[in-house]
Amino acid sequence: MTHIFPRHTAMRPPRAVAGDGCYIIDSTGKRYLDASGGAAVSCLGHSDRTVTEAVKRQLDTLAFAHTGFFTTDIAEDLADLLIENAPEGLDRVYLVSGGSEATEAAIKLARQYHLERGDASRARIIARRQSYHGNTLGALSAGGNMWRREPFKPLLVDMSHIAPCYAYRGQADGESEADYGRRVADELEAEILRLGPETVAAFIAEPVVGATLGAVPAVEGYFKRIREICDRHGVLLILDEVMCGMGRTGHLFACEADGVSPDILCIAKGLGAGYQPIGAMLCSGEIYRAIEEGSGFFQHGHTYIGHPAAAAAGHAVVSSLLERDLVTRARTMGETVKSALVERFGQHPHVGDIRGRGMFLGLELVEDRETKAPFDPARKLHAAIKKAAFARGLVCYPMGGTLDGRSGDHVLLAPPFILEDAQVEELVDKLSGAISDALAH
Ligand code: PLP
Repeated sequence: MTHIFPRHTAMRPPRAVAGDGCYIIDSTGKRYLDASGGAAVSCLGHSDRTVTEAVKRQLDTLAFAHTGFFTTDIAEDLADLLIENAPEGLDRVYLVSGGSEATEAAIKLARQYHLERGDASRARIIARRQSYHGNTLGALSAGGNMWRREPFKPLLVDMSHIAPCYAYRGQADGESEADYGRRVADELEAEILRLGPETVAAFIAEPVVGATLGAVPAVEGYFKRIREICDRHGVLLILDEVMCGMGRTGHLFACEADGVSPDILCIAKGLGAGYQPIGAMLCSGEIYRAIEEGSGFFQHGHTYIGHPAAAAAGHAVVSSLLERDLVTRARTMGETVKSALVERFGQHPHVGDIRGRGMFLGLELVEDRETKAPFDPARKLHAAIKKAAFARGLVCYPMGGTLDGRSGDHVLLAPPFILEDAQVEELVDKLSGAISDALAH
């Protein structure tokens, strides 16, 4: 008997009772290697005492002070730390409680920035197909994940969706990577011109696409071209690093690898590392000044923004990432995991692509490696892999609809950065067994 409203009504999940490094332990004592950090959350594993002590200290000092009345030392310290390490031009931090809140705030800030400057016609948002920006209605409107959108379509705001940068499937035969990147980036310019540049507020994209595509980075040069197009037309660039940010890809901010700075950047997940719910929207000094010199008021806010206990977790996590050089570890350990995946699955008849950056990796499953034909979606291979992996004591994040929201299957891996060599072997063994189990049915 339970009064919990679960994600699926038929779900009878085990009770998680403890965390131990890269493992979650259930009430029967079974240990699960958390190879996806839940959903790219637990970058420090499940028992980091530095973070839990920091949260406890904060709670013992001050649990809550509403941002309508106060600021706090810990929120100030976290904002300073983020900006010290942020891409060039970012200057202000708006602390929220998760990823969807960060992208909602970003979309609204983009609109208000243009309004403050007297550009009232700029209200259109352009995003990409096969993307995810959160489940609240504004974020869902921006997202290009068709099955997530479908039931709520009548409630969503009309936004444009251009192609993702997904070379495994999008790059044409004989087309260079650079030409492919330019072709798909140029879809942004075509859409801006179609809508009328004076109506477009912002473009939003994930630097490395997470759950929807399975750890797909853009090809080199793509985001530089996107940045140029945005600048040419006065369109703000919002980068959603909710999943791929905070060291996950081997850079504290994922866009460092792409050589661009956004106007607005969203982070969450790895910022609190699961120790507290926290997200943040970072914006440029120029955007902040437009508000400061205009109405002086960002017309937004939630009760729990800037929560001290959440800020304490965020500060302890980012400090740990920097002081323990865990971002470098995410890069090097990510290479180790990727090599192990290539060794085990590189010739697998049903693994078409192994991709990703740092500790953010994906495997795409195909019926036929030559033609890249996906499995019949009715087979729900991704769900079968998730179930088989879980039975073997492995948490990973498989998803379906990789191609178009309907067909295609992939497995997303986002292990804690503290993963050790022996656990790489365990991860690959269990995943291999799970894929075999799922294919056998
Ligand atoms: N943006 C991206 C890229 C995400 O992957 C997610 C969550 O998976 C979100 C936004 C929404 O974050 P949250 O679930 O914390 O609201």
